[in-house]
Amino acid sequence: MPSDQEILKQFKNIAKDIWKTPTIDNIKMDFECRKGGCLMSVRHNARAKAYAIGNTLVRTPSEMTLIISDEARNLPKKQFTQLLKHEALHLGYQRHDADFRRIANKLGIPITFSLLNDGGYNVQIKDGTRYKTVETFQTLNEARSYAERIAHKDVSLYRKAIKGKTSKEARDISETYKKKRRKIRVSY
Ligand SMILES: [Zn+2]
Repeated sequence: MPSDQEILKQFKNIAKDIWKTPTIDNIKMDFECRKGGCLMSVRHNARAKAYAIGNTLVRTPSEMTLIISDEARNLPKKQFTQLLKHEALHLGYQRHDADFRRIANKLGIPITFSLLNDGGYNVQIKDGTRYKTVETFQTLNEARSYAERIAHKDVSLYRKAIKGKTSKEARDISETYKKKRRKIRVSY
């Protein structure tokens, strides 16, 4: 089983290979091993969001933590390397969006692994026919409570709107509300 330092070194080399930039050396990288949970993830400790165009790294967090579960550590070497590659791609793309997938496919990096939830938990609101991410969280609980807060806000607006109205008026308001109500979901 590789040591923490060996894993970080391998991760750095993979990241340099993908992004072809020495700025990777400037990132302060920490390592965390977890029992259970998701296989592997990258936590961006700095506020600056990752941003890339194609395989050019435009912006990447100055500090990050590579989180690996025991389960991942016990994977065959080849699979483990694939996981590291996937995580290294997250230095430029925080989510599994179209750009992430395009580069991943080009480089032969898997997009999903079972038990992997490293793209974060996205709170999404339906916009037209598609769901759009409004906020991303590290844990499912945080994402759920945020989604609930949005939903509660909508309900309280509705309650305010029907206050003091006749039942017919309230019914009309209720119909409009049902149509206009924002559809919220948590995706990962
Ligand atoms: Zn990912």
